[in-house]
Amino acid sequence: MFIYGFPVLGLQYMSRAEDLFRMAAENKAAPGWIGDKWRCVCGVENSTNFCPECGAKAPAKPWKCSCGRDCTTNFCPDCGAKAPV
Ligand SMILES: [Zn+2]
Ligand SMILES: [Zn+2]
Repeated sequence: MFIYGFPVLGLQYMSRAEDLFRMAAENKAAPGWIGDKWRCVCGVENSTNFCPECGAKAPAKPWKCSCGRDCTTNFCPDCGAKAPV
């Protein structure tokens, strides 16, 4: 009975872990700004500099450089201009 039941419990645990992993991967694919809010890796939408749920730092807000490039970094990768504060 123990030997028969153990692998079944093991499989249930495995599929649950896979689901959790997939959910985490989906959440991780989404961080970024949506309008004036940003979605955290934990899935919570914030308008603050740090996520109030998990403390993650907000991703850099996209900005349009004077050279025409859309940037998400502190400095434009094309011309080196600094992001407006
Ligand atoms: Zn978070
Ligand atoms: Zn630029």
